[in-house]
Amino acid sequence: MSDTIKNQAATQPSQTTQPSSFADIYNASINNPEQFWAEQAKRIYWHKEPEQILDDSNLPFAKWYVGGETNLCYNCVDRHIPDRAEQDAFVWLSSEINQELIQTFPAVVDAFKDLGNNVEFYTDYTKRRLTYNDLYKEVNYFADVLQRHGIEKGDRVIIYMPMILEAAYAMLACARIGAVHSVVFGGFAAHNLAIRMDDAEAKMVITVDSGLRGGKVINYKNLVDKGVEQANVKPEHVLVVNRGILPYEPKDKDIDYASQRRISCDANAVVEPVWLESNEPSYLLYTSGTTGTPKGVQRDTGGHAVALTTSMDYIYDGKAGETFWAISDIGWAVGHSYTIYAPLLAGMTSVMYEGLPHRPNPGIWWRIVEANKVNILFTAPTGVRMLKKQDETWMTRYDVSSVKSFFLAGEPLDESTANWLTKHLNVPILDHYWQTESGWPILSNTPKFNDKPHKKGSPGFPMYGYDAQVIHEDTGEPCAAGEKGLLAIRAPLPPGCLTTVWRNDKRFIDSYFSLTDSNQYSTSDYAVVDEDGYFHILGRTDDVINVAGHRIGTQEIEEAISTHPEMAECAVVGIQDELKGELPIAFCVLKDHEQVTTTENRFRIEQQVIGAVVKSLGGIARPAAIYFPQALPKTRSGKILRRAIRALAEGKETGDMSTLDNPVAIDAIKQSMKDY
Ligand code: AMP
Repeated sequence: MSDTIKNQAATQPSQTTQPSSFADIYNASINNPEQFWAEQAKRIYWHKEPEQILDDSNLPFAKWYVGGETNLCYNCVDRHIPDRAEQDAFVWLSSEINQELIQTFPAVVDAFKDLGNNVEFYTDYTKRRLTYNDLYKEVNYFADVLQRHGIEKGDRVIIYMPMILEAAYAMLACARIGAVHSVVFGGFAAHNLAIRMDDAEAKMVITVDSGLRGGKVINYKNLVDKGVEQANVKPEHVLVVNRGILPYEPKDKDIDYASQRRISCDANAVVEPVWLESNEPSYLLYTSGTTGTPKGVQRDTGGHAVALTTSMDYIYDGKAGETFWAISDIGWAVGHSYTIYAPLLAGMTSVMYEGLPHRPNPGIWWRIVEANKVNILFTAPTGVRMLKKQDETWMTRYDVSSVKSFFLAGEPLDESTANWLTKHLNVPILDHYWQTESGWPILSNTPKFNDKPHKKGSPGFPMYGYDAQVIHEDTGEPCAAGEKGLLAIRAPLPPGCLTTVWRNDKRFIDSYFSLTDSNQYSTSDYAVVDEDGYFHILGRTDDVINVAGHRIGTQEIEEAISTHPEMAECAVVGIQDELKGELPIAFCVLKDHEQVTTTENRFRIEQQVIGAVVKSLGGIARPAAIYFPQALPKTRSGKILRRAIRALAEGKETGDMSTLDNPVAIDAIKQSMKDY
């Protein structure tokens, strides 16, 4: 460890005084945000103290901790070395890497040796533990490799990796040297990668030879190569973590991580953290919007670190030394915030899992909980619904008494899923609500405080810093209790929320701040507040659907379908699904409807449409059904009435049809579903 780091590590952030009620916290944050957030800022290490807590002179662009200098990686890793060097920072488990896989791909074992640390192989899963000290070393090696290949402060680096420790090192190493990472979900296809490479103008892509899902090998490297081919802005290098699964043909741009790591390791490389001004970007995370092009949600550095650290205390009640398991993927905001950054910022142990909830058997989650004494769990309801369908004694076979709370988010939590968990775990099952844009909960329950008990069926109430209201969409006036409206948040958004859309301030305003009152952030979710002040989410206001807790823009799917040469037009809607929340359904109008009058032809076109979607967006966006109506219902101005199509697809009434221009299309939609 370098001397500078040693000295800085001795400086611990001061502890904030603990308030006794949530109401005190909330009121302080709304009535005097600067004082409130100045106090929270003491939770992290500042290389240079902020000069100004909030600059709200150019709303809706808010700047937090202006002039302050810090480093996310330093706060996640170095800061814990004096007190918890030997505590686990990460426990990684993979039910994908089991004995069967190792027999098929024996090089996997050597690959682990090349990548460093402790591996334990069991029949049905593999485990790696990593102390804060180990993490410190690995992150320094990774940062050294990046620097030796020309990555500097401000450069964008795409990370396209499965749930492996090297993905965590890559993110933290970027943060250490001030590079801006953009993690792309491993289920996305080459086209998604190319769009992000172009928009971010990425200098490097970090990937692996292969990912694994349910025993199926996914050729990541091949997808990256195709993405690079399609991109207009080509990265200079592709850094490959070779897991020893699929051999690949190295390309000119490729760098082998293991051999580069060896060089850094032999040199005992230590990379000084690059101190960033608080408002400099830490990362980009692309998310679906209403257009076909995803938005690069941009996160700052200091506000992000403070917000996550505070949330771990006030919302999750997580303490240093405890174990947190966010069962998500680093490709999503939950994976960024609560698998990587927040548990480390708080000095906790984070569990990272590569695998499915029901493989090798539906007891795997609970076995991991027992073996690692997990204290706080967090996932999306879909995973739980998957387990609920299995033999329920799986949970009772393991000692899950270490768990003190289970948080769920990403999609509505239905009562039967919540009840199923409550029955078996006997701990608070807490729905909470947030978005990629917020990066931490907007609405939540707070088990740490007793003044507002958890209410079943509600994701809770606004968290400190969020001046959230349900308003009438047209007038901006607040709704009365029980009245449905739009969930809006008054600017400034609190620290940790998106600061803009990457290189597109206009899109930031157009997407989020175009309500009657230009200082109200639109969540694009309908909500209602009940008599007791608890919020209930009623679904999106836009054409974004939520499949298994993942957000997909229907327009992105439509664009992929429209590439089919026989397609005249199409509409994609999300319909309710018991397991995944929502599923995309496509209504395709062909140039020549006669094409689908034979079963054979129809099957061919269906497969081609599915193929186009999967190729462009990945399996996650695969339509669950494809119908071929002869027309789509439209308004006089030619806008497709997706709301009506969705109602018909769900067998419901279409509601107000006063704007409908072509009533015959309603029958066409009904007929197309009968034909199926
Ligand atoms: P994402 O940005 O992908 O995390 O998706 C955010 C969207 O997921 C929100 O705008 C909501 O539509 C939905 N969502 C997140 N959490 C909840 C929740 N607890 N209940 C209902 N919907 C939710």
